[in-house]
Amino acid sequence: MKKILITGGTGYIGSHTAVELITENYKVHIVDNLSNSKIEVLSDIQKITGKKPCFDKIDLLNKKETDDFFKINNDFDAIIHFAAYKAVGESVAKPLMYYRNNLNSLMNILSNMQKYNISNFVFSSSCTVYGQPDMLPVTESSPIKKADSPYGNTKQIAEEIINDFLNANKQLKSISLRYFNPIGAHESAHIGELPIGMPNNLVPFITQTAAGIRKQLKIFGTDYNTSDGTAIRDYIHVVDLAQAHILAVRRLIKNENKNNSEFFNIGTGKGNSVLELVNTFEKVTGLKLNYILTKRRPGDIEKVWADTSLAYKELKWKAKRTLANALLSAWNREKIYRGIK
Ligand code: UDP
Repeated sequence: MKKILITGGTGYIGSHTAVELITENYKVHIVDNLSNSKIEVLSDIQKITGKKPCFDKIDLLNKKETDDFFKINNDFDAIIHFAAYKAVGESVAKPLMYYRNNLNSLMNILSNMQKYNISNFVFSSSCTVYGQPDMLPVTESSPIKKADSPYGNTKQIAEEIINDFLNANKQLKSISLRYFNPIGAHESAHIGELPIGMPNNLVPFITQTAAGIRKQLKIFGTDYNTSDGTAIRDYIHVVDLAQAHILAVRRLIKNENKNNSEFFNIGTGKGNSVLELVNTFEKVTGLKLNYILTKRRPGDIEKVWADTSLAYKELKWKAKRTLANALLSAWNREKIYRGIK
């Protein structure tokens, strides 16, 4: 049985990926510092899969803690590295926190990969590496432009660190998955996106507003050059996204990669505006959302959506689930979690 280490595995994308891996008969070991997730997620994963992953509470920023973990756990076939801060707006306000956390933890892991010769690495990258692309849909060969936020910059720098590291360690391999905007939840509603404290991302803010936990959703920016003036993103169902990780891990383990550092866009190929998303949420749930239109959020770009043909060609991956399905699943998870009928 192949053994996979998932950093940030109790988090949103990590937990969904753990479920898909266990379902595909991989052995999963999770490390997380529980800064934005709860330990109960492990039992939630067990409710879906019948298996509870191994778990260690590790702060990957702490080099000694990380090194001590690897001293006794180093027989992994691959590492999937999710653990990172992820909010564009927050990163503008707290840049050092983002650079320190997202980059030091990456380097602490890579040094242990090298030390124990763990060959395969899947990295959570982001479409923010493209900044505001000149051409849409954006392909993997589009120029990497200056990032619009410290968060985006940490992903650009992280990809460069990985490239330099692999140049120096040709026996090691990596796939960076450039996510567009992950939303939705597992169909069982046992796991989902449940940020601790005030949500930064759009969909948890929507579901928490619908649940009455937040008074009002603010829609940031109405003067973008789009059909309704609100910003456009490519919203990808988290289960589709999780499945892309399984294909990436399999490709690396089977040595099917074409070079030792690969990059794939993981999105639907379709862009939706913030207002379209809000309207679809209202339609599928039958609820009315309390929202106001406000000024732009610093660090946001106007529009982006993916060209996913490379992921299809190389990984045989494409998104299957719809926006409506994703929004309904997010709401179902919020309802169950909050005890709403
Ligand atoms: N957004 C919004 N209100 C919110 C949160 C987000 O209008 O409370 C907008 C945000 O400005 C962007 C889109 O929703 O245009 C997606 O933002 P999110 O933070 O979910 O993801 P990002 O694209 O920043 O990674």
